[in-house]
Amino acid sequence: MNIKGKLIYEGKAKKIFAHEDLDKVIIEFKDDATAFNAAKKAKFEGKGILNCSISTSIFKYLIENKIPTHFLERIDEKSIIAQKIEIIPIEVVLRNTAYGSICKQTTFLPGTVLKDPLIDFYLKNDSLNDPLLTRDRISLMGILKFEELKYLEDLTFLINKLLKEYFLNLKLDLIDFKLEFGWNKNKEIVLADEFSPDNCRLWDMKAKNVKMKSLDKDRFRNDLGGLINAYSEINKRINHFNSST
Ligand code: UDP
Repeated sequence: MNIKGKLIYEGKAKKIFAHEDLDKVIIEFKDDATAFNAAKKAKFEGKGILNCSISTSIFKYLIENKIPTHFLERIDEKSIIAQKIEIIPIEVVLRNTAYGSICKQTTFLPGTVLKDPLIDFYLKNDSLNDPLLTRDRISLMGILKFEELKYLEDLTFLINKLLKEYFLNLKLDLIDFKLEFGWNKNKEIVLADEFSPDNCRLWDMKAKNVKMKSLDKDRFRNDLGGLINAYSEINKRINHFNSST
């Protein structure tokens, strides 16, 4: 039985409920959206369902390609069952094209395609405003050993390779994305959290003009409007592709 037990944790975009199997949790995707460390907030009706659908498809694709993840199954429109994990408190951002914060911290102009994909680590800590980390800081804080960090980086590069190709088939350009990882009960590092337009940038290669190209949370961050239409378009392309293969 997959009955939602007590609420264990409520984050900005998801709620985590207990599962009767103590090694599992139920994750519910919310309609809430936040940006700029929750300084900007809004609710978009239907976002939770769309993100649950998109994230489920992406995790299934990654699992088919041998990526270890926390995902077990989708149980209703906006909920999944996942392995209970201990989250590793770093956000792993991979960038194929410079956009967003990197353009404020370096001389890269927005839209510059990077020679090689770049991985940036940030500390998951709202009160410190999620600062950029170095490998040495991660190791000194005792978050991960160097070899564990190397494993996580290799996994992230592999996920990028798989997803760039996946989205290219959907005529979507994967600009950047944020991943989170955790330790499962067997002390293995697995991909956790979600993969949705809330935490990646996807540019429509079929867009008629530049205002239409962002099909991700930049529609909310930059007040472009049409967030639900954008997320629906991604979901539609994924479902169309899934049914044709
Ligand atoms: N991102 C995220 N959560 C964060 C910060 C970033 O999911 O707390 C995602 C973001 O959606 C984008 C990528 O990570 O796809 C890179 O974001 P960036 O560092 O450019 O920061 P932003 O422009 O969002 O401030």
